[in-house]
This record gives sequence, structure tokens and C-alpha cells, in this order.
Amino acid sequence: MLELEAVHAAYGATPALFGLSLTVAPGQVAALLGRNGAGKTTTLKSVVRLVTITAGRVRFRGEDLARLPPHRIAHAGIAYVPEERRIIAGLTVEENLRVTRRPPAARAAWPIDRAYDLFPPLAALRGRPGTRLSGGEQQMLCIARALMLDPAILLLDEPTEGLAPAVIEVLGERLATLKAAGLAILLAEQSSVLVARLADTVHVIDRGAIRYSGTLADFRADRQATEHLLFVG
Ligand code: ATP
Repeated sequence: MLELEAVHAAYGATPALFGLSLTVAPGQVAALLGRNGAGKTTTLKSVVRLVTITAGRVRFRGEDLARLPPHRIAHAGIAYVPEERRIIAGLTVEENLRVTRRPPAARAAWPIDRAYDLFPPLAALRGRPGTRLSGGEQQMLCIARALMLDPAILLLDEPTEGLAPAVIEVLGERLATLKAAGLAILLAEQSSVLVARLADTVHVIDRGAIRYSGTLADFRADRQATEHLLFVG
């Protein structure tokens, strides 16, 4: 469904990805693991063109995304949830959801009430300013906002960053529900908890290129690949 093929990307004159290839199948969760600065964020940004692709191709449902202007990429069904939680200041939880809604509410796969069913704490906080939520609640709001775009795939950048283990557990359960609902997820992570729970495939990135790709079971059995991650963080 999402294919990155030999992607090179750069921040201005500084290259950051070097021929990176990666595939996410429909309805599957692909985990992107790597230490700080390995290129996880840049990989997600290359899909939504927040970084310049200098060579290679990104295809979504067979279509070359280079043909779409960046603002149309979300409309094509790709929702990016950045690491820095971009809650819209001055808006309540519910307003954050409403302003993000793209398809008319009547046709939405994720009406606001369905998002509240997925994240019940948000329903209770719907009138509260979005910036006055706990870290876990903010992460839920960011994912709920992404759902307002009716995506086929979510690009999640380190969603567990700074969250307590119990909150990560709840988030994992909610993401498993999204996966069961048919959403594909490209999950950049450092925490193994979510990966062990959700991932179908694991990709280890280092210095801007994929150094290992395999199923979760293969990854667990592969000493070299797992040892690579001992250096993470
Ligand atoms: P982290 O876990 O710290 O977010 P990461 O794996 O997501 O790490 P990236 O943020 O993708 O890594 O960074 C990959 C490389 O690109 C690093 O060498 C980083 O210094 C560089 N880089 C990232 N953002 C920029 C930028 N805005 N301008 C220039 N170089 C950047």
C-alpha cells in the first residue's frame, strides 16, 4: 500500500536518507526502529513531503506521490502524527477535532463520536482547551485528529515518547483497535512495548538507510538485529 523505493532525502544541502526502501502492506503495522538521529522522523516526513526527496520514489496505492502537491497527500489517505504534539492552542478538544475534519461529517468513516468511543477520556474532556491535557490525553487527541482525515494509513512518530508505562499500555490497546478496524500504521518507535504488541514487520534504520527488515517473529529471533537496538536511546 505504501512503498518507499530507494529514497534519498535532504534538509537543504544536508542529506539525511540514503536509498531507503520500505513497504507497508494494507492493514498491517510496520515498525521503524532506530536510535536517536537514525532518520525515523525524516522517513515519515519524506512520505508527506516535509523534507525534499532528491531521488527515489514514494508510492501510495500504486500512485507516485510526487505527482501530488503536499497538501493533497493527506486527502489521499495518509495521516501524519508528528512527534511534537501539534494541538491547536486556544481551541477545545472538540474544536481541535472539528477543524481537522475533512470529508463532510455525514460521509465520515470516523465521526467525532466514533473517535470518542475509541478514546473515552477525550469525550469527558471535550470542552477543555486541547493544550491543557496530560501527555497521554494529548497523544490521544492527536491520533483522533488524524482520524478526522479518514486515513487508510497513519504515520505515527514516537507516540509513546514521555508517557508512563500504564498510559503506553492503554495507547497500545487503542492502536490495536485501529489496526483491527483495517488501518495500516507506520510506527516510528523506540519503545519495544508497542512494537511487540502491534507490529507485523520490523525495519531497523541507521544512518538514513534500512539495515534490517523482517517479520516481528524473524526480528525477535535475529540476534544481530535486536542487538542493534541495544544502542537505541
Ligand atoms: P529522533 O529519535 O531523535 O527524532 P530520528 O531517527 O527521528 O531521531 P531524524 O530526526 O530523522 O532522526 O534525523 C535524521 C538526521 O537528519 C539526523 O542526522 C539529523 O541531525 C538530521 N536532521 C533532522 N532534522 C533536520 C533539519 N531540520 N535540518 C537539518 N538536519 C536535520
